[in-house]
Amino acid sequence: MVQKYYESDADPRILDGRTIAVIGYGSQGRGQALNLRDSGCRVIIGLRPGNSWQRASEDGFEVYPVAEAARRADVVQILLPDENQAAVYRAEISPNLKENTCLMFSHGFNIHYGQIVPPPTVDVVMVAPKGPGHMVRRMYEEGKGVPALIAVQQDATGDAHAIALAYARGIGATRAVVLETTFAEETETDLFGEQAVLCGGVTSLIKAGFETLVNAGYAPEMAYLEVLHEMKLIVDLIYEGGFTKMRDSISNTAQYGDLTRGPRVIGPEAYAAMEEILEEIQSGEFAREWMLENLVNRPVFNALTKADEEHLIEQVGAEIRRFMPQFQK
Ligand code: NDP
Ligand code: MG
Ligand code: MG
Repeated sequence: MVQKYYESDADPRILDGRTIAVIGYGSQGRGQALNLRDSGCRVIIGLRPGNSWQRASEDGFEVYPVAEAARRADVVQILLPDENQAAVYRAEISPNLKENTCLMFSHGFNIHYGQIVPPPTVDVVMVAPKGPGHMVRRMYEEGKGVPALIAVQQDATGDAHAIALAYARGIGATRAVVLETTFAEETETDLFGEQAVLCGGVTSLIKAGFETLVNAGYAPEMAYLEVLHEMKLIVDLIYEGGFTKMRDSISNTAQYGDLTRGPRVIGPEAYAAMEEILEEIQSGEFAREWMLENLVNRPVFNALTKADEEHLIEQVGAEIRRFMPQFQK
């Protein structure tokens, strides 16, 4: 079984007297930095001039250029977009890293695929919340936490694991649960999850169902409510109590259809595609493709994003949501 940690397993005192530089103040940067500060940690922010800099200053943080923040820090948590991390690391962080610094990530991509190769004189750890940054913040404010993964890639000081655990406690994760993993396992499962199930799988499933109904002549608004709007209600039940709780709430007719038709939709072809996608992640082929895509200014990323933004389901959805009270600002 995987090793689990809770609040009492983490000793926050290991962070006493250490300055944590959070590099980047986007989704994860903001959530993690605010929680750490409220937990009593000393936090500074490293950025370039721009919107995030402004926001971090307004939130009351000391903000420095990335190089200066790295120079001042004992723990450097890199929360830049994954595709920018290697360039910023080479130019601004690496020349300023003191010996015995704890270099930290919330996703293993750059270490696992060798885009960043830290010197042997620093710790290399991961604290990866399993949820978006605004949830990391909201749950903390409610006295709860978003679960997180921790991993130690390199332990130069002997303190790497204790620092990772104390940091996880500082962002509130030990209030939920912290699981021990490796950079390889986190990176590969995270990429697979978002590609095959959470993001890619779900949007493709919704789109396929929507197009099937609309092509058969049903009203797009009906199709939208049926295959997109209701998705959340079903997923919430699964989240709360697994398939069993969901099936307790739906009709017997729905349950019979679920059990007998679902496996036809996600059949042998889908399993084969999932295996192929996982192999591309494990072999580094996906990482190479995504890094090269960024080098040429993302032609595929931009074209596919635009095509989906213009899809009928997005237009119909915007119109329907306009009058639903739960979506009013
Ligand atoms: P965001 O895109 O939300 O934020 C990126 C931040 O980096 C912004 O503040 C941006 O500032 C800053 N930035 C970008 N380029 C530079 C640069 N060259 N120099 C200085 N600052 C720069 O990132 P996320 O929070 O989504 O992701 C951060 C990490 O967290 C990634 O490793 C990701 O995989 C991981 N993660 C993300 C999750 C999520 O839900 N978002 C969940 C779990 C892990 P500016 O305003 O100047 O552009
Ligand atoms: Mg991810
Ligand atoms: Mg129904």
